[in-house]
Amino acid sequence: MSFDVAAVRADFPILSREVNGKPLVYLDNGASAQKPQVVIDAINTAYSQEYANVHRGLHYLSNLATEKYESVRAKVARFLGAANEDSIVLNSGTTEGINMVAYAWAMENLSEGDEIVLSVMEHHANIVPWHFLRERMGVKLVWVDVDVNGDLDPQAVLDACTDRTKLIAVTHMSNVLGTVVDVKTICHAARARGIATMIDGSQAAVHMPVDVEDLGCDFYPITGHKLYGPSGSGAIYVRPERFAEMRPFIGGGDMIREVHKDSVIYNDAPMKFEAGTPGIVQTIGFGVALDYMMGLGMENIAAHERALRDYARDRLDGLNWLSVQGQSAGKGAIFSFTLDGAAHAHDISTVLDKKGVAVRAGQHCTGPLMDHLGLTATCRASFGMYNTESEVDALVDALELCHKLFA
Ligand code: PLP
Repeated sequence: MSFDVAAVRADFPILSREVNGKPLVYLDNGASAQKPQVVIDAINTAYSQEYANVHRGLHYLSNLATEKYESVRAKVARFLGAANEDSIVLNSGTTEGINMVAYAWAMENLSEGDEIVLSVMEHHANIVPWHFLRERMGVKLVWVDVDVNGDLDPQAVLDACTDRTKLIAVTHMSNVLGTVVDVKTICHAARARGIATMIDGSQAAVHMPVDVEDLGCDFYPITGHKLYGPSGSGAIYVRPERFAEMRPFIGGGDMIREVHKDSVIYNDAPMKFEAGTPGIVQTIGFGVALDYMMGLGMENIAAHERALRDYARDRLDGLNWLSVQGQSAGKGAIFSFTLDGAAHAHDISTVLDKKGVAVRAGQHCTGPLMDHLGLTATCRASFGMYNTESEVDALVDALELCHKLFA
């Protein structure tokens, strides 16, 4: 099946609007992606026709909502190549997923002096939960740098491990540099050494096929709003044998089987890690977004974005006053840049916005990476499945205007 970007664009109503009198060129997909009509319709139907709380009622609507909600677990499993849908915990997104690993798994299995290996290009969501453990338990964080191209050498990650290393927590794709990490090599070697792996899939799962069984990871969180689904939805893959090492960290309804005055019996995993009323409608919408992506085919999406990356790279390389951070050959279509000279990233993004081009400016929740690069902020153009070469041209035209204004 070929990929028809015009047909895909027609599925996203927001893409036909204007911003500041110009056609919208949405290049902030790394922060959050737009939603196709099928997702918007699913949210509408869920609230207008099919809404009730899940798991608890014995009435028609509750059963219907439960069925729709629960069907998402199998969709996530299929999307991530997980053999068993019971290895999927549904949640509100990657941040919750990684915090679950920190509280429910790491707090139970690490002690003072144990080490967690991280790369310098992690998002704060994959840093701050580990700082909690450092502060509270005396766990040591060990940092691995990226090279000049923004590549992370798997061997450098493995070389950073000692006999105190209990966890490697690295991203599959950088949200700033676009670097794709060879996490398969890391996970398989880590496994052989008895080290657990937490691979942040927030960005990678949007842009390429993922197979968690093949990667060999223990934890793989994803986030719905970057996957063209609603905000407040997401999931994490947990290697089934890890569940036995985990204690629930959010207590409440649904995650228990029995509660008495002096005892409690928990539900089985994955329900044991899903307390309280979940994001019912968000999760249902998330399932529809995954169906939409799988319908297009992740290989097709990846091929389209590779061509877009190559085109954008050529065009941006032609601007000799622009510094692009991250030159990894196999990177995804994410370009962070600064303009040589004094213009601040915020000023650049404001000028781009006047031309209808939406990018993100700032430190992108990656403080250690910014320190490593010696920068305080960059502008980031991050592409998604619906972007086109003519939108790359619009970005370049708007950047040329910036250059004229600020040079
Ligand atoms: N990890 C990476 C690499 C990200 O890009 C993001 C979001 O920008 C996150 C984690 C956090 O995702 P969320 O805010 O959806 O929980």
